[in-house]
Amino acid sequence: MSLPVAAPDAAAMDRALVLAAQAGAAGDVPVGAVVTDAAGRIVGEGRNEREATGDPTAHAEVVALRRAAAALGSWNLDRCTLVVTLEPCVMCAGAVLQSRVSRLVYGAWDDKAGAAGSVHDLVRDRRLPHRVEVVAGVREPEASALLRAFFDARR
Ligand SMILES: [Zn+2]
Repeated sequence: MSLPVAAPDAAAMDRALVLAAQAGAAGDVPVGAVVTDAAGRIVGEGRNEREATGDPTAHAEVVALRRAAAALGSWNLDRCTLVVTLEPCVMCAGAVLQSRVSRLVYGAWDDKAGAAGSVHDLVRDRRLPHRVEVVAGVREPEASALLRAFFDARR
């Protein structure tokens, strides 16, 4: 099912899918992420590079948030949007909250480890002080196909 998507989100997801494919080609699980500012401009991008760097926290979201914060000169990414091809895990949902991004857009759901609606929903937990607007399922078929092809090739 595809719903109409705001143009900046769609363009950002296109870029995130390219980054995801690059991660897969480098031997990492294919996940890509970008951060856009209030005007829809990409201010940070990242791909999963856990294998490439040996860093257990080098998920695409964390890499993209770090780069966006460096580019904008502040850890506070209020009014920014994180666009990622796969539903964030618990760590990345935590990073989303810590960065104060106001929106999260993701592609594929992660039924095993997702923390933005599937297993947990940390980014909309009413017990926490910061909550995030979530748009899920953007370019889901493409994002899922990348992941499926990656894992099929490893079986
Ligand atoms: Zn993660």
